[in-house]
Amino acid sequence: MTTILLKCQCGVLTGVVRNVTPKYGSRVVCHCGSCQAFAHHIGAGKRTLDPQGGTDIYQTNPAQVTFRKGTEHLRCLRLTPGGTLRWYAGCCNTPIGNTINAKTPFVGMIHTIMGEGRKAATGPVLMHVQTQNALPGLAPELENPSFPKALRKKAMRKILWWKMTGKTRPNPFFNKDGTPVSEPEIVNP
Ligand SMILES: [Zn+2]
Ligand SMILES: [Zn+2]
Repeated sequence: MTTILLKCQCGVLTGVVRNVTPKYGSRVVCHCGSCQAFAHHIGAGKRTLDPQGGTDIYQTNPAQVTFRKGTEHLRCLRLTPGGTLRWYAGCCNTPIGNTINAKTPFVGMIHTIMGEGRKAATGPVLMHVQTQNALPGLAPELENPSFPKALRKKAMRKILWWKMTGKTRPNPFFNKDGTPVSEPEIVNP
C-alpha cells in the first residue's frame, strides 16, 4: 500500500494520500467542460489539463487524505449552485480534488497535488471519460462519451463499500456537521 505525498506548487499546503493502488482507487482522465472550466477559472489550466483538455484524477475516499500543513489555504468553488465541490490550494491555485458532499465517501484527487511516485502507484489510466468535451487530437480508441456504465457501476460499488466500512470520516474537506471546511465560492450563481 503506497502513500503519496501531497504538495501544492508553492509547498505551503502539504499532506498525504494513503492506499494508492490501481485496485483501491481508480485513475481516470476526465475531459468534461466543468473540469476544464475549474482549472481555467483558477488560472491553472496549463499545468492541470493535458493537450486534449483532460484532467488526470485518482478516485479514492476522503479517509485516505490527510492535510498536514497549510490547511488555512484550502479553498473550494462550485461552478453552479449545488454542483461538485472543487478544491484547490489558495496560496498558489493548485487544484486538489473534487468532492460530492459530506455523506459520500468519494474524492477525485487531481494529479497537480500528488507528488512523486503518483503514476507508478495509481497505475495506468483506466479510462478517459466525458470525451465529448475533449479538445481535438484524442485517439479514437480512447473516446468514451459521458461516463461509461461499467465504470459508473464500479465507482458506485466502491462508494457503497467505503460507506459500509466507515470511510466517510475522517474527512479533511468537511466539518462534522457536513459543511465544507471552506465556504464555497459559487462561480455562476
Ligand atoms: Zn501553495
Ligand atoms: Zn470532469
